[in-house]
Amino acid sequence: MSGVALFRCRSCGHHWQFRRALCPACAEADPEPVEAEGHGTVWSVTVVHRAPTPELDVPSGYGIALVTLDEGARVMARAPTELATGMRVLVHARDGLLFASRA
Ligand SMILES: [Zn+2]
Repeated sequence: MSGVALFRCRSCGHHWQFRRALCPACAEADPEPVEAEGHGTVWSVTVVHRAPTPELDVPSGYGIALVTLDEGARVMARAPTELATGMRVLVHARDGLLFASRA
């Protein structure tokens, strides 16, 4: 299990990441919490060289990827610096953060 929490619309099946009272696709109320499978495709990726905190300050920087999960939701995750747009990845949650790795 990925541990990646999503919400799914019970009416149209649309998935999204953060809690909303209404479905962003069809405005139906009563979404249900679901867990993503974790498989996805890199939509965008960057390397952060100026870390916002000392813990993140690593010599070669660290990667941040926007990943479109197979369920359709797009999430942001820490990532290896060698990822590129279009790569298949696996996303999982750890300590409240999301991490992407090559599938
Ligand atoms: Zn909907």
